[in-house]
Amino acid sequence: MPSLPAGPQIEKLVQLLAKLPGLGPRSARRAALVLLKKREALLEPLGQAMREAAAAIRTCETCGNLDTVSPCSICRDPRRDPHLLCVVEDVADLWALERASVFKGRYHVLGGALSALDGVTPERLNVAPLAARVANGVGEVILAMNATVEGQTTAHYLVDVLANSSVKVTRLAHGVPVGGELDYLDEGTLSAAFRARREM
Ligand SMILES: [Zn+2]
Repeated sequence: MPSLPAGPQIEKLVQLLAKLPGLGPRSARRAALVLLKKREALLEPLGQAMREAAAAIRTCETCGNLDTVSPCSICRDPRRDPHLLCVVEDVADLWALERASVFKGRYHVLGGALSALDGVTPERLNVAPLAARVANGVGEVILAMNATVEGQTTAHYLVDVLANSSVKVTRLAHGVPVGGELDYLDEGTLSAAFRARREM
């Protein structure tokens, strides 16, 4: 790819922006140009915010969440039920559940899902500390994995890991999305929804 007519610093900025999710080389060039044109209003504050975030970010020693303190603000919050533990693959999933305000317990972030193809083994995930936490007074573990092959493989593995403890293990229901029409659902979703039907 021919270099930009703009010097190595700007070239590097574009290359780094292109690594962000949703940004290819073309959108990275456009984003860089917006930043360069708005040097005082955007480029400099963004650079400072990034430096501050890089200096402040911590991985929670208890649950694996990202915060500026460790233990994180969720693990420290006395209003959250320590007997309920929701296991998620990634911090993005924790953020999604927090946006929905449905869960008032604590989390455990695995840092990914098992994948033979990508070489992700249990040792590479935050699994061992989970068993220790569960042994320490947790009443229910909610497995909130993605409804993907990797997510469900991970959920089955965790059920085996937790089989020797007396903890109740549940998982999120799979089924018809809110606002979804049956005619548009794939067969897997439809059959999962049918199996998970409830009495009204
Ligand atoms: Zn935490």
